[in-house]
Amino acid sequence: DTHKPAFRRVMLKISGEALMGNTAFGLHPPTVERIAREVKSVHDLGVEICMVIGGGNIFRGLSGSAQGMERTTADYMGMLATVMNALAMQSALEELGVYTRVISAIPMDQVCEPYIRRRAVRHLEKKRVCIFAAGTGNPYFTTDTAATLRANEMSCEAIFKGTKVDGVYDKDPKKFEDAKRYSTVTYDEVLQKHLGVMDASAIALARDNDLPIIVFSLDEPGGFRGILAGEGTSTRVHG
Ligand code: UDP
Repeated sequence: DTHKPAFRRVMLKISGEALMGNTAFGLHPPTVERIAREVKSVHDLGVEICMVIGGGNIFRGLSGSAQGMERTTADYMGMLATVMNALAMQSALEELGVYTRVISAIPMDQVCEPYIRRRAVRHLEKKRVCIFAAGTGNPYFTTDTAATLRANEMSCEAIFKGTKVDGVYDKDPKKFEDAKRYSTVTYDEVLQKHLGVMDASAIALARDNDLPIIVFSLDEPGGFRGILAGEGTSTRVHG
């Protein structure tokens, strides 16, 4: 394929739930493999790839604290969940022959690398997929904010947010037949209308650094590669 991709370096953000398949909890290995193949097909184009994977398929700080757990402790458990997901994705990618590094915001040297910005940049230059784990390393944040932060630090040209739907709608397209998809929408509109693309701190961080967010469906086979080539439907969140 001689088609030159429009992007040189991108961030792919997926939720932990994206790794669950149709199960109710945790990791569904065939789904992890499927997403790894999607990543490989884009990596094969020569695009440098950063990834952030959430932890919601295992543990969410907010639900832990709702059940009486201390919030910051619950958030650290959520961050640890993202490390497990990152390791699962690393394993699936390396099974496909894609070199990867798991880079954690919380040092755990026996398990993965600590986050050192210049080192991560070097990995990307060497075409290693960098999977950023443990969120921002701070409670009260989300992995959407972590993805935006790392995308800025790594000079990614855009964040690709893979979801269950093919873009941002004015209301939930799984519930309302007349839901309308935006082809583009501004950061401010997302915030004002509570469009639920990402949490407000992530949107503000993207806005303040002019980092486009492209929302697309991860359920579409070949979707990630297609979106990078300008095919298929998605929503671009911009300034
Ligand atoms: N988390 C955190 N700080 C971060 C990122 C994540 O405390 O910088 C915790 C938080 O408790 C969150 C959990 O990790 O609920 C899992 O992340 P998230 O909810 O973003 O996962 P997703 O919804 O994308 O699966």
